[in-house]
Amino acid sequence: MKECPNCHELVGDSVKVCFNCHYDFSLGRVVDSSRIAEERRNEELRIQQLKEAFQGVSINATINQTILIFERRIKGEKY
Ligand SMILES: [Zn+2]
Repeated sequence: MKECPNCHELVGDSVKVCFNCHYDFSLGRVVDSSRIAEERRNEELRIQQLKEAFQGVSINATINQTILIFERRIKGEKY
């Protein structure tokens, strides 16, 4: 556990941003809410792009192809 220098909340050692006050441990300052909102929008955009990329692709087919690639890698073959 470590203590947030901004609001003195106790957070986990791996926590990058304080959940209480949005203090960013790597930046050493509080991240303003507009930046968080922007990051959230970017995240939603990425998810949307992924959904579009996978549209019409059978999930099973994708998994089977992935397994095939790994099987070939294990055997040392080129794929
Ligand atoms: Zn804090």
